[in-house]
Amino acid sequence: MTAHEATAHEAAWDTAPGLLDGAKNLTLTAADCDLAYWLTSVAQGTLRDRAATGHHPDAIVPAHMREPGPLRESLSLELGFRSLSEELATRLLAYYVVNAPGIPELEFYATQMIDEARHARVFRDHLVELGWQRETVLADIDEMAADYRRRVLDPVERFSLEIVRDQGDFYGGVAVFTIVIEGVLAPAAELSERKWTPLDPAAGEISRGAAIDEIRHLTVGSSILRSHLIDNPGYRPRLLEILEAGRKLWSEVPDREFVIHREELFQKGMAEHAGLIGDYELWPGVRMLDTTPEQRYDIAEQWTDEMAQTRMAYMGLPGDWLSGGAAS
Ligand code: FE
Ligand code: FE
Repeated sequence: MTAHEATAHEAAWDTAPGLLDGAKNLTLTAADCDLAYWLTSVAQGTLRDRAATGHHPDAIVPAHMREPGPLRESLSLELGFRSLSEELATRLLAYYVVNAPGIPELEFYATQMIDEARHARVFRDHLVELGWQRETVLADIDEMAADYRRRVLDPVERFSLEIVRDQGDFYGGVAVFTIVIEGVLAPAAELSERKWTPLDPAAGEISRGAAIDEIRHLTVGSSILRSHLIDNPGYRPRLLEILEAGRKLWSEVPDREFVIHREELFQKGMAEHAGLIGDYELWPGVRMLDTTPEQRYDIAEQWTDEMAQTRMAYMGLPGDWLSGGAAS
C-alpha cells in the first residue's frame, strides 16, 4: 500500500490497537499524520459509518440506558463533563494552529482541533440519545457541570492559555496538551470504553472512536517534543519547569471527588444490571462486578503512571514526573 491510499492500520476500526497499547507502542509523527492522512484514514476510515453519531447505526442505545436511575446519571455526568472538556480543548487548540512552526504541525493541529470538536459533539449527542432535550442540552450540561468547570476545568484552562496563548510557546503548549492533559486523562478514557461496552454498546463505540483518535494525539505530540528536544537541548529546563507546574496543578484540582461520585453512581447502576455484565472482565482476571469505585479510580491512576514511564522515556524525559520527579 502506498501512503494515503487505504486506511492506516492504527486508524481502522477493526485493527486499531487499544488506547494504552497504541499510546505506548506506536510512533507517529506530524508528517505521518498530515491532512491527507486524516482525510483518508480518519474521515473515510475510522469514521466510516460512524461519522454522524460516533457509533454504528447497529450499535443501539438499550432501553435501560434511557430509564432514570444511577446508571443513566453516571453516564450523563461522564459525557456532560467530557463534552465540556472537549469544547475547551477545541478552543485551546486554535492557538496551536496559530503558533505552529511549520506546515506539518499546522496540518496536524488543524485535524486535532476538528477531532476534539467532534468528540464534544458525539458525547453531547449521546446525552440526547439517552433522552436529554436537544433544544436545551448545551444549557443543561453547563448547569450540571458548573462546579466541575469552575474547580477543575478553569484552572487547567488558565494554565494552558498562559503558556500557549500568552507566552506563544508552541512546544510548551505541546507538552501541556500531550503530557499534562491528554497523558493524564487517556487512561480514564480507556476505562470508560471498557466500562460501557457491555451496558451501552453505542457509548462503548463512541468512547472507542475517541480512543483511536487519542492514540494519534498522544503519539504525534510526543514525537514533536522528542525531536524538538534532540534539536534544542537548551529547551529541556523550561520543559521540566512546565511539567513541574503541571504536576502541582493536578495535585491541587479536586478531580478525584468528581470521579468517585460518578463511580459510586455507576456502582449502584451496575448492581441493578448485573445480569448484562456477568463475568465480563474490566481488566484481565478482574470481573467488573467485583470492582469498587476506588479500585477503578486507582487503576486509571496506575495506568497513567505506566503509560507515562514509557512515553516519557521515548521523549527523553523523567518518567516519574507525576509522582514528583519532574524537577529532578
Ligand atoms: Fe478528545
Ligand atoms: Fe485528544
